[in-house]
Amino acid sequence: MKLALVNNVRSYATKGAKGSCPFCGSDVIAKCGTIKTDHWAHKGVRNCDPWWENETDWHRAWKDNFRADWQEVIAHDEATGEKHIADIKTDYGLVLEFQHSHLNPIERSSREKFYKNMIWVVDGTRLKRDYPRFEKAKQDFRVTNKQGIFIVDFPDECFPSAWINNRVPVIFDFKGTDVIVDAKDSRNYLYMLYPKSAARHRFVAIITREFFVDCIISGNLFAKKQETQKQVVTPPAPNRRVAARSQYVFHKGRYVRRWRF
Ligand SMILES: [Zn+2]
Repeated sequence: MKLALVNNVRSYATKGAKGSCPFCGSDVIAKCGTIKTDHWAHKGVRNCDPWWENETDWHRAWKDNFRADWQEVIAHDEATGEKHIADIKTDYGLVLEFQHSHLNPIERSSREKFYKNMIWVVDGTRLKRDYPRFEKAKQDFRVTNKQGIFIVDFPDECFPSAWINNRVPVIFDFKGTDVIVDAKDSRNYLYMLYPKSAARHRFVAIITREFFVDCIISGNLFAKKQETQKQVVTPPAPNRRVAARSQYVFHKGRYVRRWRF
């Protein structure tokens, strides 16, 4: 973990420092070496939150795009008493989880249920075959009338199967921590797979990293989306008073001309 409690203050790891885990309260020690970035580690082998993943440089680089007080936030479920550490939790309630290692679909689904308002960011470089496979399938993306949004007819040929039954957006990052010189290389972009719907085809948005980070920080894209979801579209209810004054009245589920009565 990146932040631990030292005298009750969330602090970064410094050489020789001792602290306590903000989650389970057990002792943690600072690990400051030359190979891995500075972090805190539990004295025991096991981590306290079973969902907690050993941090890679890729994790760290992603987290550092956001405010320190949004990083490693304890998320509670009041109803079940369950709690977990969210990689990022914004002050408007959105959770980002950065996933490097394999996650089975049942586990993925239970985390989606726990966090509800969340986005996955997946390290697409873990398996060497995933990017070439994606690159090939990407040639069949179909354009839509919205710029940057595409239709994918066969999502299972495009993305790792563990991710395609997602109920929340999944962002694939095929660049990882690599440095890519060619500006046209498609790994410079992020690919957001929209949540699964009733339709067989799926939607994918191609976005830049900067755009994604800006959207999260400002709350623009995703806060707006929540508002839209809250708007319940109901068919216009028959307004009897208005109908009575007009020459139409609502009768047996439709408006009919008054003179029929
Ligand atoms: Zn702990």
